[in-house]
Amino acid sequence: MSQHNTSEVVIQTPAMTWSATRLKTYLTCPRQFRYSYVDCIPSVPTSPLVFGRTLHEALCFTHERQMQSGNLSPLSEVLERFDALWQNALTREQPFFRPGAPSPQQLQTTGHEILRAYLSNASNAKMPLAAELAFEVQAGDYKLAGIIDRVDEGENGLVIVDFKSGTRKPKEIDLEGDLQFTLYAFALSRMMDRPVERVVHYHLRDGTRLEAIPTEEHFAWLLDEVLPYVAGAVAREEFAPRCGYWCNWCNFRELCRAENARNFAEVK
Ligand code: SF4
Repeated sequence: MSQHNTSEVVIQTPAMTWSATRLKTYLTCPRQFRYSYVDCIPSVPTSPLVFGRTLHEALCFTHERQMQSGNLSPLSEVLERFDALWQNALTREQPFFRPGAPSPQQLQTTGHEILRAYLSNASNAKMPLAAELAFEVQAGDYKLAGIIDRVDEGENGLVIVDFKSGTRKPKEIDLEGDLQFTLYAFALSRMMDRPVERVVHYHLRDGTRLEAIPTEEHFAWLLDEVLPYVAGAVAREEFAPRCGYWCNWCNFRELCRAENARNFAEVK
């Protein structure tokens, strides 16, 4: 592993733990980052977010069973677990369903279809090494954290599998050097002291696997460019709003509009 120089970083945010979501949020819009992680303003979770997390929990349930007993849970048990988790999440979190979004019942049906297909595809697959693996890794002056959905044994190293429950499917080429994948691959290789040969975007809606190969260049970009840039800007309290199409999905849109009327005039 190459040595990464972080000695040029003069401004630090020692209390901040860096996840891929935090880094991506800052790079998309510094003001949104401030609302979420500095001001800690609570926001109502959206239905896709809660649906995705419920699916992840159901998949973790079946993989944990597999690692204990050697077999995946039967489909009926997985669906039962998913239904219980979904109803519980709806009651407890009361997610926001945007106008035109699939209803709770429609998402429950989609969840069943996804889990049925997943279990069918995974019935002959090797047992994973880990499921829902939480990590906290020190990288120079930075602490990295996250949760890896699944870790498999590959032919020449570890394979990270990241479940995606959304409808949007990226192009494989766009996943090369993906920030989340790079951070996960770096952290796992550090934690297990083994190389990561691939990161798989597992598109749950249709079962396709899109793969990216992490490299030392990607790691250097994360450690020497992204982290110093974001951590430095946060330490200097640089939280200017950055308007764009992503404002349409921002939980703080009304607050931001009130604070930044001039910027908002430019947003369609
Ligand atoms: S509404 Fe747009 S500019 Fe304002 S915080 Fe959200 S993403 Fe940033």
